[in-house]
Formats: sequence, structure tokens, C-alpha cells
Amino acid sequence: MSTYDNDNIFAKILRGEIPSFKVYENDDTYCFMDIMPRSDGHCLVIPKTPCRNMLDATPAQLAACMATVNKVANACMTAFGADGITLQQFNEAAGGQEVFHLHFHILPRHDGQRMRPAGTMGDMDAIKGHAEAIAKAMG
Ligand code: AMP
Repeated sequence: MSTYDNDNIFAKILRGEIPSFKVYENDDTYCFMDIMPRSDGHCLVIPKTPCRNMLDATPAQLAACMATVNKVANACMTAFGADGITLQQFNEAAGGQEVFHLHFHILPRHDGQRMRPAGTMGDMDAIKGHAEAIAKAMG
């Protein structure tokens, strides 16, 4: 497995070098919107410290991410009146990973609605509104 690349896009987001729609952060994790949302409210939780994916993550990094996933996913249920949440996480290219900084996808779901295809840029105003709605539901 390759080593961690400090110039991956999520490392740049953490350093504030490229913009993101923030949902939530604490000392150990950051949550922001996916700009190619496969459902309304699709957001990503990442650790603030470097690791490529689940395979090289420490138990502390995984635990911190899961605590944030739990909080944000519950807020998504409220914010979107969702019926469920899909949680996705990919490891290495063969496992479907494209950005090599550990991340968990939170996808609010509604009964009978399919996820949109991957790779389509979302409407930035709508995404901004969704970030605000999730943040508000977190109190
Ligand atoms: P994967 O590594 O397969 O889990 O996919 C990476 C995810 O990051 C995809 O869902 C992309 O839409 C998303 N993504 C890529 N660049 C950005 C960005 N600058 N801001 C937010 N999300 C991004």
C-alpha cells in the first residue's frame, strides 16, 4: 500500500487551501459536504490527522470518526426527514477509493429513492443550504 500523500484534496481542505461547505468539526474530525452528492445531504467525515483509509487508521482515528458519523447521521435524519442512512467507506483504488485520506460517506435516504449516479457535480447553492440544515439540526 502507498504512503499518505500530504497533497491529497482532503488534506488541502483541512489546511484551508481549498474551500469546503463545513457541517461540523471537533478536535479530531471534520465533516463537510460532498460536492458530487449522490443524495441530498451527502456529506463526508474525515479525521484531522493523516491516514489513507481504514487499513492504516488507528483505533483512535476510527473511534473519533465513528462518533462524528453518529452525530451527523442523526442530524441528517432530522434535517431531511430521512427514512434511513447509507454509510459508505472505500479502501484503495481496487476498493473504489478515489481520494486517499480516510473518509466516511453519510447519505440520507428516503424509501423507494435510488442514489444518484456518482460523478455529477451538484448545485452549490443547494449544497450550501444542506450543510446549514444539518448544522442547525445538530443544535
Ligand atoms: P471515494 O474516494 O471513492 O470515497 O470518493 C471521493 C469522494 O470525494 C467523491 O464522492 C467525490 O464527490 C468527493 N469529492 C472530491 N473532491 C471533493 C471536494 N473538493 N469537496 C468535496 N467532496 C469532494
